[in-house]
Amino acid sequence: MSDPLLWIDDESHRWAARGLRRQLRSRGPTTARRFQLEGREVVNFGSNDYLGLAADARVVAAAHCGAETYGWGAGASPLVSGWTEAHEALCRDLAEFEQTEAVALFPTGFAANLGTIAALVNKDDGVYSDRLNHACLIDGIRLSRAALRIYPHRDADRLASLLERDPGRFRRSLIVTDGVFSMDGDLAPLDQLADLAERHSAMLLVDEAHGTGVFGPDGRGAASALGVAERVSIRVGTLSKALGSLGGFVAGSRRLIEWLVNHARPLIYSTGLPAAAACAAREALAIACSEPWRRELLFSHGHGLRTALSAADYETGSSSGPIVPVLLNTPEQALQLAEQLLRRGFFVPAIRPPTVPEGTSRLRITVTAAHSEEDVAGLVDALVAARD
Ligand SMILES: *Cc1c(COP(=O)(O)O)cnc(C)c1O
Repeated sequence: MSDPLLWIDDESHRWAARGLRRQLRSRGPTTARRFQLEGREVVNFGSNDYLGLAADARVVAAAHCGAETYGWGAGASPLVSGWTEAHEALCRDLAEFEQTEAVALFPTGFAANLGTIAALVNKDDGVYSDRLNHACLIDGIRLSRAALRIYPHRDADRLASLLERDPGRFRRSLIVTDGVFSMDGDLAPLDQLADLAERHSAMLLVDEAHGTGVFGPDGRGAASALGVAERVSIRVGTLSKALGSLGGFVAGSRRLIEWLVNHARPLIYSTGLPAAAACAAREALAIACSEPWRRELLFSHGHGLRTALSAADYETGSSSGPIVPVLLNTPEQALQLAEQLLRRGFFVPAIRPPTVPEGTSRLRITVTAAHSEEDVAGLVDALVAARD
């Protein structure tokens, strides 16, 4: 009898032939800015640990203390018995930070977006989505079975005309967007989206995965940077990027959070976060607030890197902040450049379709507060040398 999974060999072969095969690579011992990969020490320009907190001794100690107090595993979903004082305290801290009435916690940011969208709309509703939105927003929309209207990247005018074509067609409407786009590092036109949401009585969900802790005068995210945080009724964040921990959250009104606790399936049917992860995230949030130099430093690294790269004729798009894409074309170009950098001691991931559209393969450099100016200068030298 032949293996019913044999079809995978053919499909995988085609996938690899297009330069799209992915492989896990395990890193060894790690500090905030370096790790070992295949026996070589490299500087890490490929993490979302923007504030350099994932390996911070205070965050690690908080996780340790949380595990000592509450045990490691949560043991059950939050509504059963997987909810501790540590989770409750984190929600209070996050709500205060976000200046919202309440916060709901999810196992991951992915689960937060997926579960929230599916809890807010169904087949009677319409969702308007930026073409470059993150996979978890797209999957949440698909799961909800709402009608999907995709608008071109950051094109508020096109969104306006889509909304104008649909009056009365849907029971409810929802606009969803990344606040900071994960692969391009640019910001959504959130002021215009907030205007449109108000004009059309639509809900507005902003995924602040790359905004939380990074953008805005207080690190509250892209919506705060653009002065519209209070007009975004559903703000989704992650604990796993700038806050160096694990988990996702939604910040909003008590009405919204109560609804999610009752209807968002990943929150209801998945085991709660370890209390230790909540303790670590609380500590990281406190550090993010009390050490604004971290945000300032990563913006200065990002600015320096962009200036040096455009002087070297590399295309970095309209990014701002810590995500600096180096736009190329084919998967092979991105893989080759990443490999050359690795040989020079810098880890930068090659990003290929389907993560980004065909013809826009790239390197995705992320700078963090743990990098030194010499790290950034060294990366620029390596990129210039790779081109010559
Ligand atoms: C990483 C990411 C997520 C998922 O967050 P996790 O906490 O890692 O699951 C959601 N949205 C965007 C835009 C992301 O980049």
